[in-house]
Amino acid sequence: MAKEELIETTEKLFTRTKFREYRDWARTGIYLLLTGAFVFLCWTQKLDRFENIVLDNLIKRTASHRLHPAIVLFKISPETLAEIGSWPWPRRYHAVTARLLDDWKAAAILFDFTLENSTLPQDDLDLGQALTRIKTPLYLPLDLKPQKERKFWVHGMPVVLDKDEGKLTWVHSLPEFEKKVKAIGHRKLVSDADGLLRRFDPFLTDGNETYPFVALPVAYDFLKKPVPSAAEWGRLADGQGKVIIPWASRWDEGFASYNYADLIHSFYAIQKGAAPMITPKDVAGKICIVGVVSEGDANFRATPLDVSYPVLGVYAHVINSVLTSNWIRPAPLWVNSLCLLGIGLLTSFFFLAFRRTPSLLAGLLLGIGWFLFCLLAFYKWHLWFNLVYPTLLILCLFAFSAVYVQITSTSEKSQLFHLATRDGLTELYVIRHFRLIMNQIVREANVRKEPLSVVLLDIDDFKKVNDTYGHPAGDMVLKKVAGILTAYIRNHRPFREIDFAARYGGEEFIVMLRKANVKDAALVAAERIRKKVEAAKFEWEGKTIPVTISLGVASLHAGENIPDPMVHRADAALYEAKKTGKNRVCIEKI
Ligand code: GH3
Ligand code: MG
Ligand code: MG
Repeated sequence: MAKEELIETTEKLFTRTKFREYRDWARTGIYLLLTGAFVFLCWTQKLDRFENIVLDNLIKRTASHRLHPAIVLFKISPETLAEIGSWPWPRRYHAVTARLLDDWKAAAILFDFTLENSTLPQDDLDLGQALTRIKTPLYLPLDLKPQKERKFWVHGMPVVLDKDEGKLTWVHSLPEFEKKVKAIGHRKLVSDADGLLRRFDPFLTDGNETYPFVALPVAYDFLKKPVPSAAEWGRLADGQGKVIIPWASRWDEGFASYNYADLIHSFYAIQKGAAPMITPKDVAGKICIVGVVSEGDANFRATPLDVSYPVLGVYAHVINSVLTSNWIRPAPLWVNSLCLLGIGLLTSFFFLAFRRTPSLLAGLLLGIGWFLFCLLAFYKWHLWFNLVYPTLLILCLFAFSAVYVQITSTSEKSQLFHLATRDGLTELYVIRHFRLIMNQIVREANVRKEPLSVVLLDIDDFKKVNDTYGHPAGDMVLKKVAGILTAYIRNHRPFREIDFAARYGGEEFIVMLRKANVKDAALVAAERIRKKVEAAKFEWEGKTIPVTISLGVASLHAGENIPDPMVHRADAALYEAKKTGKNRVCIEKI
């Protein structure tokens, strides 16, 4: 290889490496950008609904079924109402319930209804007296409801002045009842955007009033512990300060629950000496939650475990979680973001550092590893880490890498192919590649019985060019002659009959002409090429170099299925042309 050629190739390789370096930087930049985008999505909680779906499934699969035996539900169901009368009941019914549960030594009573308006004075008095007398602590909820609209009337028609749905007010029970209870608490439950009830507010503040979720004082009093402060709940809370309800079971396989009517029947059965359905033993020492359970209204909510679950059961689950200290602790936002960042950087590193298959495996393993870690953390420690964000990030990084590798390897392959098959100086095929093509084409021509010719050409007195004008001038002549050849092939030969030219040796070239026999087509082509070279102006440093070529033409003989004899005949014809005065075309001797 000549020195200049060597320099040129080295330069080419150098620019290629530099280009590669830029490409690698761009690739790293896109990895970082993708990771940053996902951290932003995580921070702004854009994909949390998908995380919730994962959480639902985790809860479904890991539902502990550890139900504390000290929780009993008394359902006021449609059947109860059919038997006892429609809601709201006279207050003395509640007085009877409170006395009965107190007689039977219940540990706590939670009425899931607010006693907000006064009813018959005698009934209210009855309940007031009952609440004074019972020893069992009783708990009442209070509601946080939208303020009533302000209206005035014009000719008997209401005109709404202020329909401020956003303004909420606390709805308390009558003071004569509320004063006598052990504690009050809020019962406001807000479903997530997808309609599923997953979380509750451990404390709710509106205006100057702050109340715990009503189930909390019930449970902590039972444990004889103070309700932890709002700040302490913060450790369990998610980004919005809410606490995940760790559903332990489905509604129909849940806590001991009785029809309220059976409680009354049992009371009378015991009076009459008959066998009761509910015995005092079922109630003694237990937390009794009494509430209306009628499907279709706000008392039923969709939860991850059930399409429809009575709110009564939510109290039971929260109390159960306190008693069994079973909570789901969501990883804080900053921890999730940090994990995501780490996973993004690690995956990017894997994809950058390894070759294709190992990097794919490394990314896959990281994804699986994170998935298993999340499961383990949830099962073992009830810690809930984001699963969807990291998985999607790994997938995005992988998809980008796959496309990137595909594109670059295709272009690299074609560049390498070019480098391997083309001569560095003239950009013509190297003879090795030309031979491969020629073998194939000769076989085809032989089978199809189509004519095929080769033209072998050699620059006349090239040594003199080198000696007189210098090696670089010789290179220029080689390049230009090659240029004339390719231009001829491109412009004068039909596209269907694609021809090939190659650098045969130092200053020798070979051209293959398909569907051309030696007498007319090949001879004409060779003569044209000769004339073109002869007519071309070769200038070097202001001087014109006279350049001519000699050509030998041969064609494929019938029955020949290898190119060598034909090339030999062309070589002999070329020799003949040189011998008989150069700058001429000779055809093979037949
Ligand atoms: P003839 O007319 O008989 O072909 O004479 P010639 O001088 O062309 O033939 P010869 O084979 O004696 O010389 C070929 C020369 O081509 C020798 C070599 O230095 C030169 N050569 C071969 N490859 C290159 C190249 O890549 N660049 C340059 N500049 N010269 C080359
Ligand atoms: Mg020569
Ligand atoms: Mg030669």
